Amino acid sequence: AVTKEYRVPPFGRVQALKGISLGLRRGETFGVVGESGSGKSTLARLALRIESPTSGAVRYDGIDIAQLRGAALREHRRRVQIVFQDPNDTLDPRHPVGRSIGEPLRAQGARANEIEERVRACLNLVALPAEAAERYPREFSGGQRQRIAIARALVTDPELIVLDEPTSALDVSVQAQVLNLLADIQARTGVTLLFISHDLAVIRHLSHRVAVMRHGELIEYGDTATIFSAPREEYTRQLFQAAE
Ligand code: ATP
Ligand code: MG
Repeated sequence: AVTKEYRVPPFGRVQALKGISLGLRRGETFGVVGESGSGKSTLARLALRIESPTSGAVRYDGIDIAQLRGAALREHRRRVQIVFQDPNDTLDPRHPVGRSIGEPLRAQGARANEIEERVRACLNLVALPAEAAERYPREFSGGQRQRIAIARALVTDPELIVLDEPTSALDVSVQAQVLNLLADIQARTGVTLLFISHDLAVIRHLSHRVAVMRHGELIEYGDTATIFSAPREEYTRQLFQAAE
């Protein structure tokens, strides 16, 4: 079980995660829902090793990721990628998007022609033409930019992509496009998705299993159909009712 405390002077500590235990299955879409402040993004940051747990361990293939060093850490960085709510967090406005997409591969020490080839393949996966690589973020719409951020997450051929509210900043019409794209990519590549969202409809549509979080605790988790049709916990029932 993983806990995470933030120190926030002068208030003391915030317990963002209070003993969370969950495991992902290869190839699934695992949804995480919960109100603002429930700890969803903290969970994402721990999975990516952007932050480390206060207690407990995050394991990948049975290995505590905090122990990874050198080549093993580099391999972990290849295997696990993230897409944030705002694509502008990952796309550098000063560079053509092809360079940003290729960046995780460059960090892996890949050769230029290999990077170029992968960038093209990943643009294709997100339904953008190869020429898009030469253009700058400002030349794209919000939805296109998020597709570019997804291409960047795909470039290392990862096993797991963590998506933290990837469609929350998009127009509703564009949201559906991006969600269908993700489902399509998963069907084609078999990548595992950890999909974080406060949008229950989206989670229900996309996830095989779902976890409900509240105030840093895992309220319940299980098969999406079961959780939605017969939630065990009163809180989950209320959350679903409020969304109807
Ligand atoms: P949202 O839906 O608004 O994105 P969330 O579920 O992602 O919320 P987190 O961002 O994980 O929630 O935050 C969980 C708790 O930890 C909140 O109380 C938040 O204020 C606190 N917190 C998150 N990041 C930090 C930080 N860097 N420093 C201090 N407190 C933090
Ligand atoms: Mg968040």
